[in-house]
Amino acid sequence: MARLRFNVVEEAFKKKAVEVKTPTERPSEYFGKYVFNKEKMFKYLPLKTYNKLCDAIENGTRLELSVADEIAQGMKKWAEQFGVTHITHWFQPLTEGTAEKHDAFIEHDFKGGMIEEFSGKSLIQQEPDASSFPSGGIRSTFEARGYSAWDPASPVFVIGDTLMIPTVFISYTGEALDYKAPLKKALAAVDKAATAVCKYFDENVTKVTANLGWEQEYFLVDEGLYSARPDLLLTGRTLAGHDSAKNQQMEDHYFGAIPERVAEFMKDLEIQALELGIPCKTRHNEVAPNQFELAPIYEECNLAVDHNMLIMSLMRKIARKHGFRCLLHEKPFAGINGSGKHANWSLSTNTGVVLHALGKTPEDNLRFLTFAVETLMAVYKHNGLLKASIMSATNQHRLGANEAPPAIISSFLGKQISSVFDKIENSTTEELIAIKGAEALSLDIPQIPDLKIDNTDRNRTSPFAFTGNRFEFRAVGSQANCAEAMTVLNTAVAEALTNFKSRVDELIAAGSDKVSAIIKVLREDIKTCKPIRFEGNGYSDEWKAEAAKRGLDCETSCPVIFDRYLDPESIKMFEDMKVMTELELKARNEIKWDTFTKKIQIEARTFGDMAMNQIIPVAAKYQSTLIDNVSKVASTFTKEEADELNADNMSIIRQISAHTRFIIENVEAMIEARKVANKIESEREKAVQYHDTVQPYLDSIRYHADKLELIVEDELWVLPKYRELLFIR
Ligand code: ADP
Ligand code: MG
Repeated sequence: MARLRFNVVEEAFKKKAVEVKTPTERPSEYFGKYVFNKEKMFKYLPLKTYNKLCDAIENGTRLELSVADEIAQGMKKWAEQFGVTHITHWFQPLTEGTAEKHDAFIEHDFKGGMIEEFSGKSLIQQEPDASSFPSGGIRSTFEARGYSAWDPASPVFVIGDTLMIPTVFISYTGEALDYKAPLKKALAAVDKAATAVCKYFDENVTKVTANLGWEQEYFLVDEGLYSARPDLLLTGRTLAGHDSAKNQQMEDHYFGAIPERVAEFMKDLEIQALELGIPCKTRHNEVAPNQFELAPIYEECNLAVDHNMLIMSLMRKIARKHGFRCLLHEKPFAGINGSGKHANWSLSTNTGVVLHALGKTPEDNLRFLTFAVETLMAVYKHNGLLKASIMSATNQHRLGANEAPPAIISSFLGKQISSVFDKIENSTTEELIAIKGAEALSLDIPQIPDLKIDNTDRNRTSPFAFTGNRFEFRAVGSQANCAEAMTVLNTAVAEALTNFKSRVDELIAAGSDKVSAIIKVLREDIKTCKPIRFEGNGYSDEWKAEAAKRGLDCETSCPVIFDRYLDPESIKMFEDMKVMTELELKARNEIKWDTFTKKIQIEARTFGDMAMNQIIPVAAKYQSTLIDNVSKVASTFTKEEADELNADNMSIIRQISAHTRFIIENVEAMIEARKVANKIESEREKAVQYHDTVQPYLDSIRYHADKLELIVEDELWVLPKYRELLFIR
């Protein structure tokens, strides 16, 4: 038994880096090699078809079937050079990850043979038998039809022998069954609302795009050690494991040198990601040992979401090639930092202006202020909903823990912008406010050029921080599909901008000039959304008390937080902005609750088994060695001597008994709690019950299991320990 752990540790130590060949071309040359991007569309499609496709991509115009046929022909011709034989509609159902069903190009030629064919119809639409994807009751199993429909805004790409077609996934009656369909509607809503507001400042603005730059954090663990841990295998996180004596205290991992085995993995990942058109830019070690980050340059939000889904699957796949497993769970290890996915978000116009960046003139800055204030209005009004958008059974362990954003949504603006907000709030006139741009900071170090002071100071504790030309939503989970958070954020901002515009228009209609009307409404809104602004330490207890006083959402129970989706103001927002209907929202919540329950159920089962099959037997074995020793001592020495010599061992024997007794009793109690919860009909009540009565056992049992790990002889312990999982390369 014990040899198993020692063997895998030894093997892990011996592993050498898997060398990756550096391409002879430069990254700019192989970037997008496997993507049917505009350059390839131009080359492989008739000009008229190309123009129609561009129009569909840019303006969302519908494609006729005959045009789709021509596009499919062009795609097939391009893809065949890579030996492509299959196509798949690639979609994002309401599970984790993506789904695909592959169809060969093969069709009957009706002469007894086969031909390779790819029709426009199969490009545009497929009907995956969708009964086994979650639908929250929208589509019961006997009405299994759901269909996937091509999203031309996200380009087609090739992986292996398959042409991958990004699609939305909807029910036969039109309800969204995926993450992408509502996201696209939210992006359309924010485009419409923001474009209308931009017209106050520049008539030439005809389109506003939401941008997303995600920063993906992850852990790598040696695959041998991983497979010796049933908890990692089945739940993605360690359910037991005592702290390693050394973990992140020395702060020596963050931005440290990247170990060779990991460096080769990163290189492999980046080459493949670049070939798939993902603009990878930054890689570094993160705070926790064995934790890393990858960030591309930001892109249009819909495309960025697809690229994030793609990178997560590439990470998992490529890690295995290098003898690692990639952990995307938000909290794989207790006691050290978890992983998030900072979502850098901004709006920009077709005229090339980033609406969340400071401008040069006072007029520019009024526009900047408008978008900053209305973003805060959205975050203020829907702070509970935004929290719901990032909440999950896995992310709940990260929020509120010390390294991550707290479980209360607030926004950090930085001194300079805050003071401008305050100035407007307290002003009585409607003049333009000049914001001083970045000032040069002379460092006085020879050969180092002067740096510009960033307009924002940094606050790592803020869940929604302004960072110079964007807001950074830091509460998104590392394994989450960021579409969910982006759908809520963009919809909420669309609503705030729509509301802003109607009030400004009213004032103008009543005779006010435009600038005065805008400043007047902004002043009102700055006052209204003031409770969301917080510049202090988001981890402190004072903030929790203060936030409650301000009326911000302070709920911490994951299943209860999901209720925010069904609040009347949330339903109204989604319906007004034409993003989701009440029926869709209800159905999606059923799925959220069900997923929560299942996750906790799996953790409880896994941990029960580990405790009974791996932890207790090992403890008993060690205890019996001690008992043997005690009885040998007793038969060798006088009673008095033996009692003295046996005192320490007797104490350990008793401790082991106490811990094992607690574990056994609580594993049984946890099973009972599950039985009670499983009988509950309502998905919501069941999830709440799992949260309140099953989940706490995971922590209390763990406490005693981890104590046993400290006591039991190292050689006997079966489960790879934190010091091995986290420090082996
Ligand atoms: P940091 O770790 O300092 O927050 P990174 O450079 O790791 O920053 O990542 C920042 C991310 O924000 C990158 O993806 C970057 O492209 C993106 N970003 C930069 N400017 C904007 C913007 N205006 N809108 C959206 N994302 C942006
Ligand atoms: Mg960041």
